[in-house]
Amino acid sequence: MNHYILDTPIEFLKGVGPQRADLLRKELKIFFFGDLIRHYPFRYIDRTEVTPIKEINTYERYVQFRCHVLSTEIIGEKAAKRLVVHVTDGSGLTDLVFFQGLKWIRDKYKPGQELLVFGKPNEFKGRFNFVHPETDLYTEELEKNAPRLQAHYHSTEKLKLIGLDSKGIGKLMKVLLAQLEHKIAESLPTYILNNLKLLGSEAALIAIHNPPDDITLKKAQLRLKFEELFLIQIRLLKQKANHKQTVAGFVFPVIGDTFNNFYNHHLPFQLTDAQKRVLKEIRKDLSSGKHMNRLVQGDVGSGKTIVALLSMLMAIDNGFQACMMAPTEILATQHYNGLSELLASTSVKCALLTGSTRKSERKKIDEQLRSGELNILIGTHALIEEAVVFKNLGIAIIDEQHRFGVQQRYKLWRKNTCPPHVLVMTATPIPRTLAMTLYGDLDISVIDQLPAGRKPISTFHKFDSSRLWLFGFMKQQIAQGRQIYVVYPLIEESEKLDLKHLMDGYESIVREFQQPQYQVSVVHGKMKAADKEYEMQRFIKKETQIMVATTVIEVGVNVPNASVMVIENAERFGLSQLHQLRGRVGRGAEQSYCILMSGYKLSAESRERLNTMVATNNGFEIAEVDLKLRGPGDIEGTRQSGVLDLKLADLAKDTQILALARNTAEEILNEDPELKDSKNNLLSVYITNYSKSRPVWSRVS
Ligand code: ADP
Ligand code: MG
Repeated sequence: MNHYILDTPIEFLKGVGPQRADLLRKELKIFFFGDLIRHYPFRYIDRTEVTPIKEINTYERYVQFRCHVLSTEIIGEKAAKRLVVHVTDGSGLTDLVFFQGLKWIRDKYKPGQELLVFGKPNEFKGRFNFVHPETDLYTEELEKNAPRLQAHYHSTEKLKLIGLDSKGIGKLMKVLLAQLEHKIAESLPTYILNNLKLLGSEAALIAIHNPPDDITLKKAQLRLKFEELFLIQIRLLKQKANHKQTVAGFVFPVIGDTFNNFYNHHLPFQLTDAQKRVLKEIRKDLSSGKHMNRLVQGDVGSGKTIVALLSMLMAIDNGFQACMMAPTEILATQHYNGLSELLASTSVKCALLTGSTRKSERKKIDEQLRSGELNILIGTHALIEEAVVFKNLGIAIIDEQHRFGVQQRYKLWRKNTCPPHVLVMTATPIPRTLAMTLYGDLDISVIDQLPAGRKPISTFHKFDSSRLWLFGFMKQQIAQGRQIYVVYPLIEESEKLDLKHLMDGYESIVREFQQPQYQVSVVHGKMKAADKEYEMQRFIKKETQIMVATTVIEVGVNVPNASVMVIENAERFGLSQLHQLRGRVGRGAEQSYCILMSGYKLSAESRERLNTMVATNNGFEIAEVDLKLRGPGDIEGTRQSGVLDLKLADLAKDTQILALARNTAEEILNEDPELKDSKNNLLSVYITNYSKSRPVWSRVS
């Protein structure tokens, strides 16, 4: 086979020696020509615009100006040693500052030179200067040929030191593009390009680096974003179809006594319509003979646990065992306690297995699992260990899916002769676009309704100066018999200081609430497990009215009488964490409150987070805002998925392109499920190559 030019190692590009190649690989993961061509510009800048120095009034964006060099000097010591180039354009004065490569840079600038400078103003002692700006000797030619859309590339400090700043990378790109002319193969089938009027690969790649005008740039971006999203979708949908075809599942034909007895006599409430609908979807999977691979999405408190339990009962009625895996010991224990209570007067037997299960207990569990006496096993990661052997595992529930990796799910698969059915549940909703991409190969059910009678939680944002008001409000609530959580942030990097804040807060609350003799619990991660448990129990038994804690209570605690959630330094929490914390209240019949305390100084982003919390209780809406603010990279669960490989498409913004990509992929697979038609040749080759490059568990979902 002919060697494809995009697979040429990067050191073969003119201008890239071994040293540059080494750093390009290390710093930007650019190994081949194809990686460089897909190192897309992150912005385009109008180089025809020249701003007088006097009029530069923003630190927000890049500016360009024309100036004369007045003088140069080296000042400062050691790390602060720098070359300062004083310049003027007649309208004002400013400095260009260089910390690195002082020697040769100094020789580069001479008084009287005329420069064209491009950079971002930097605030320094109340004035502005330019640190490591791009400079060119000014010529008329330069001004005449200035591009209106000049591509700018991400680089790194190390690359800049060897001349590969944005401009340097731009130069390499020119060389590369010239070399690739007429040699870039098309990656999408022609009929798709025609139907959707998309630019071809080569035209799009040339235009994205060197756009002649706005319209062509937009077309190039559309084509390349579509390609990224479409290829993921076709892969996921093909994977889902293969899975349905090739992986057989246990058939659970009957709804039997266990299920019916529980449903008719022990269900503590009426299921919501949404819960019933999701159960039907699950029931259909379980009786189909296909392997179930389903995600249940639902807001905090929407009642996912009971759906999980009823699904497990379906397995038991058909002679199978079930297991439920949770990410933390606290959560696993809570599930165990909750389910044991629900099942107390039935014959269903369940047990808890975690890292701290005693040896003797563990031995008993092992025996009962092998004999089939145990119906349900609840636990943490401990339950996927090789040593845990079931007689006949039929269904596995994974709570809070995002915390488990694919490999762990693969281990579950091997717990029986045929993979047990898998039901995964998310902790908080994820945006639709993200779900489509993260879980595109799973069937998705949504519980989009909360149980009846829940009073929406009222949320307020208050500044620290309202502390007196806050204490008054807390006292009034306690007087009415309520209990209160006060949560402090605690992150590893500033652990000591955070812990001090928490203890200071705890002490001031103890002082403040001494008078009516209210009691205060305190729980944080540095305490011994037994002490934590003791403090939690005091709160649960209503011996204390206030629980001061870190986010250890984010998941796990269920105290329906607690109706006020105070979050200190709320600006430091992420949206989904705030939403999870708020979900700890609103569990009883009383009106609940969430109070977000913050300082006055808020970034635009923190302000938007807090405003969003005040504006809505809807986890799906919150998830959308979260994605817009943070991007998918920081959202839990995205790390091991292909989402982060997206170079151009943005799941928060490009929702329409994603919908188009998904629909197109669905249509193609409906018409040609095996991708056998010659017109789909490129796609089947793509999928084959992709799966060759992945380990076996890439098939697991
Ligand atoms: P999540 O979806 O966050 O896991 P849970 O399953 O923990 O929610 O349910 C939250 C609370 O709502 C539990 O106390 C549960 O017993 C209760 N619950 C669940 N479904 C219903 C329902 N249909 N009607 C009333 N209460 C319900
Ligand atoms: Mg839950």
